[in-house]
Amino acid sequence: MDKIYDLIIVGGGPGGMTAAIYAKRAGLDVVIIEKSVPGGAVANTSEVSNYTGFNKIGGMELATKMFEHVSSLNIPFIWDEVKSLKLSSDIKTVVCFNGTFAARAIILAFGAAVRKLNAQGEHEFVGRGVSYCATCDGALYKDEVVALVGGGNTALEDALYLSNIAKKVYLIHRRDEFRGEEFLSNQVKSKGNVELVLNSVVTRIIGDKKIQEVEVTNKETGEKKVIKVGGLFVCIGRGPDTEIIEDEIKKDESGYIITDSNMKTSIDGVYAIGDIRNTPLRQIITACADGAIAATKAFEFIKTRRK
Ligand code: NAP
Repeated sequence: MDKIYDLIIVGGGPGGMTAAIYAKRAGLDVVIIEKSVPGGAVANTSEVSNYTGFNKIGGMELATKMFEHVSSLNIPFIWDEVKSLKLSSDIKTVVCFNGTFAARAIILAFGAAVRKLNAQGEHEFVGRGVSYCATCDGALYKDEVVALVGGGNTALEDALYLSNIAKKVYLIHRRDEFRGEEFLSNQVKSKGNVELVLNSVVTRIIGDKKIQEVEVTNKETGEKKVIKVGGLFVCIGRGPDTEIIEDEIKKDESGYIITDSNMKTSIDGVYAIGDIRNTPLRQIITACADGAIAATKAFEFIKTRRK
């Protein structure tokens, strides 16, 4: 570990990539560390229709455009998974599986991990019918019957996406009201092949080599019913995944990192942006805005350290 970067951005989603663009243009020696594909959760989104300037664009297409923008500025990516982060000292250390990297400032931009149902059989059938990504695995269920769990924007968008592939989609939600946008829920309700299963939770996943049925329990009546399905998509949101941070960093009661309006965390030189921080809105556009602010503030911080 000879080199000390000005700034390491952990996570190459829209927020991380935007931060990198602002940092590079400010003259910082910046690098992005990403474990998977550029774009983060956006790359697995079927369609984006609320990012200004694009009426409708595929998630992967938008992620690719952002990556091309970053690449045109010669901003390096390190393709590696972070094992641990040591953030309290003046020089911050990022320990990855294939190397250790150091910087004067860090932007935490690694989003949030998918939530699990913790239903009986869920773990057993992952990859054998249980999926957490409709855009990744949806095509495998052409003309089949599938179920999808969730009531947020992801679940609604994924139900629409799957309704164009599968013969039938059961949308299972634990309340009788959706958390996602009304515009999307109206679209879902108008689909002839989507059946809503409301006030209900999946209590058991049943199958042999592959999933065959899900047991659903009505939360109000306690009534159980079994639905025959070829696949189950779990789209119940994401949660912060901050265990890799070794130092004390202020978090809210749900585990999201607390920042001020400059995206600064409770540790000097450490910023958090996008889905990982306690923000009132988790959208592509807000993650990008966070990234622009964090990079600008990181630049000011690094400048004072260089004197
Ligand atoms: P979300 O908004 O947190 O919604 C999660 C949904 O899953 C909720 O309906 C929740 O039910 C349900 N849920 C949570 N835990 C559950 C459990 N253990 N069992 C059963 N159901 C459970 O997550 P998201 O839909 O992934 O969206 C995340 C963020 O990204 C949101 O801010 C969303 O607006 C944004 N997003 C935006 C777009 C877009 O604007 N185009 C697209 C996708 C995502 P309750 O409602 O009862 O809590």
